[in-house]
Amino acid sequence: VTRSHNQAFPDLLDVAEALQRLLGHFAPLGVVEIPLNQIRGRVLAKDILARDDLPPFNNSAMDGFAVRTVDVLGASPEQPIVLNVVADIPAGLPVEVDLKAGQAARIMTGAVVPASADAVVPVEETDINQRQPGLKTPEAVQISKPVHPGAHIRLAGEDVRKGEVVLWAGQMIRPQEVGFLSALGIPKAPVHRKPRVAIFSSGDELIPVEETLQPGKIHDANSYTLTALVEHFGGEVINLEIVPDVPEAVRECLDRAYSEKVDLILSSAGVSVGALDFVRGVIEQDGQLDFWRVNMRPGKPLAFGDYRKIPFVGLPGNPVSAYVGFMVFVRPALLKMCGRRELSYPATRVELRESITSDGRETYLRSIVTKQEGILVARLTGHQGSGNLRSLVQANALLMIPSGVVSLPSGAQVDAWMLSSD
Ligand code: AMP
Ligand code: MG
Repeated sequence: VTRSHNQAFPDLLDVAEALQRLLGHFAPLGVVEIPLNQIRGRVLAKDILARDDLPPFNNSAMDGFAVRTVDVLGASPEQPIVLNVVADIPAGLPVEVDLKAGQAARIMTGAVVPASADAVVPVEETDINQRQPGLKTPEAVQISKPVHPGAHIRLAGEDVRKGEVVLWAGQMIRPQEVGFLSALGIPKAPVHRKPRVAIFSSGDELIPVEETLQPGKIHDANSYTLTALVEHFGGEVINLEIVPDVPEAVRECLDRAYSEKVDLILSSAGVSVGALDFVRGVIEQDGQLDFWRVNMRPGKPLAFGDYRKIPFVGLPGNPVSAYVGFMVFVRPALLKMCGRRELSYPATRVELRESITSDGRETYLRSIVTKQEGILVARLTGHQGSGNLRSLVQANALLMIPSGVVSLPSGAQVDAWMLSSD
């Protein structure tokens, strides 16, 4: 590992410090009640208490026979004990069966176990090993071994006790939590409002994807990438499209974002020092702009500030820089507004399968991580120029090379951000 001199970039702001400063301007958004069929991916704003036991009553875990264990203590294959079947207990009905000595009830999975029974013997372990639908209740059943009390009974409250906290504020609702809430009889839950994000791309060279290329023009990539990213990380997009390099147009676009009452304005390009980078100037007139040169690669120039009190993030124009800038700075801000508590990207340790060099800034490299002989190994994808989207498309991970490191040999361990596959 070769390290650069500590003060290699004294004028650049550390990524961690820049992120901390930026996050200081965001807070979890207000609370809304959302029905279960729309709640996946949302973040709970309050703890959830169970209103009932789960399961709500003792029920059978098997199709079989509800018995009193005292009746079958002496059962054996040679001398099975015969019980009289006095009732049939289907799922879904209250039970009114009171088993007396020598009696059993046929019972279905999920049906209420009568208080007089203390075990269920599965059909497979009796002489009535049949379960075609509609089979009539047998008169008797043979049990050929003893059963222990509680066998194949799911006890009321064994999963969840009434009054317990079962889900916590800050927790994101996955499909399994949706079903859990439903099982608990909770049809809607309090979550944080979705962040509304206005997105625009700046640059005279940009045309929308539907238009045919003209000399000097390129198709806008960033507003599409950023829209998809914002939605992926829980936000809602107000698409302000492409803004030409004209101050009045930039102002008009920012005012539209303002009137939409968005929670964040997100732009790409037009914030660096080029002669036609007007976004910066317009924002400075009606807000404040912290223009940061962040100690990272790609994505060094990052503008952060507010326009008429709405937070503004200006990402670099190069498509890979915009993507990396989003992942490092905007993703955590979105998660924070959504109410998540853990904002850092989960990192995985991987082993380099080629040597790499860096200029000493915190570097994000596009990489393919695969498992070989049980370990995760990483190679770089294609040309790493920050304008080359293809190398990002080929990647399934970003490798994070800490600041101060200028080279690493093949075999070194680094942190990888595995990129989700959807
Ligand atoms: P700028 O920050 O305006 O100097 O832009 C840096 C580079 O990124 C230039 O090559 C731009 O053409 C390119 N670029 C800017 N915005 C976009 C965009 N939305 N989609 C694709 N490339 C872009
Ligand atoms: Mg430009």
